[in-house]
Amino acid sequence: MAQYPYLSLNEYYRSLFGKKTAKISLDGGFTCPNRDGTLSTGGCIFCSVGGSGDFAEDFRLSIREQVEKGRAQTQKKWPDACYIAYFQAFTNTYAPVNVLRAKYEEALAQPQIAGLSIATRADCLGDDVLELLQELSHKTKIWVELGLQTSCEDTAKFIRRGYSNEIFTESVYKLHAIQIPVVAHVILGLPNETPQDMLKTIDFINQLPIQGVKLQLMHVLTHTDLESLYRSGTYIPLEKDEYLEILCQCISRLRPDIVIHRLTGDGDKNTLLAPLWSLHKRDVLNRLHELLRKKNIHQGDSYYP
Ligand code: SF4
Repeated sequence: MAQYPYLSLNEYYRSLFGKKTAKISLDGGFTCPNRDGTLSTGGCIFCSVGGSGDFAEDFRLSIREQVEKGRAQTQKKWPDACYIAYFQAFTNTYAPVNVLRAKYEEALAQPQIAGLSIATRADCLGDDVLELLQELSHKTKIWVELGLQTSCEDTAKFIRRGYSNEIFTESVYKLHAIQIPVVAHVILGLPNETPQDMLKTIDFINQLPIQGVKLQLMHVLTHTDLESLYRSGTYIPLEKDEYLEILCQCISRLRPDIVIHRLTGDGDKNTLLAPLWSLHKRDVLNRLHELLRKKNIHQGDSYYP
C-alpha cells in the first residue's frame, strides 16, 4: 500500500532502483541567458545569487569532488543508497555540447550514481543538446527538469521568465519524442496569482506528456527583485494555512500518474526573508499529510481529462 495519498518521489525511485535513492545537488559552473545579458541581466525576479541552486555543492570543486562530498553527507544515514546527480544551479544545458558531455559523463562515472537530473530552461534545448541527452539516455536514467513556474502568461512576464508557454510546450514534446521524462517546476504563491491561477497551471501540466512535478512555495530571498516588492508591501507571501489549502487542491487536481518530486521549497536560512515558517519543512509536510487524511484527498480525485 502506498505510504501517501499521492505518488511520491521516494516510492517512484524505489520502484525504479529497488532501494533508497537520494539526489546530490551539483553546480556545474554554468550561467543563464536570463542573467548573462543574452536575454536579460536581471534574471527571474526571485532568482538567488546562486542561480536558484542554493543547496548545490561549490562550483569551484570538480564534479567528481562535488559528488563525493554530497555522498559523504548522506552515506551515514543511507549506507546502501544510490544517487541521482542533480545539475541544479543556473541553466544546466546552457554551454557548448562538448562541455555538457564532459560534466554529465564525469558525474555518471562516479560510484553509486544511478542517473542524471538536469534542471534547465525550455529555451535552452537545441538539437545538439537533445541528441546528447538521447544518447546518454540509452546508457542511464535521465530526467530533464523544466522551469514553468506558472501557465499564466501575464505572471510569466511579471516574473521575467523569458519564454512563452508555447516554447515550454514545444520542449516538452521534443523531450517526449526522445523518451526523456520531464519534471515541471511550478511555484505556488507567485505575485498577483490567485488559487484559481495555480490550479490552471496544474490543468496546463495535466494535458502535457509530463512525468513529474515540483510544487514549490514562493520564497523571498535576499538580493532579489522580489525582496524589494516584499519590503515595500507590494508582495505578500502565503501563510502556512493558505499554502497547505492550495497544495491539497493541487494534489487533488493533478493527473494521478505524475510523480510529485517536491511539495515545499528549500529556502536557505541565511538568505530566506519570508515566509519563515517554511524553514520547518518536517512540520509543513506533517501538517499536509494530516490535512490530506482529514479531508480524504488523493492525487487525481478531481482530475478531469
Ligand atoms: S532561469 Fe533559473 S537561473 Fe535563470 S534567472 Fe531564472 S531562476 Fe535564475
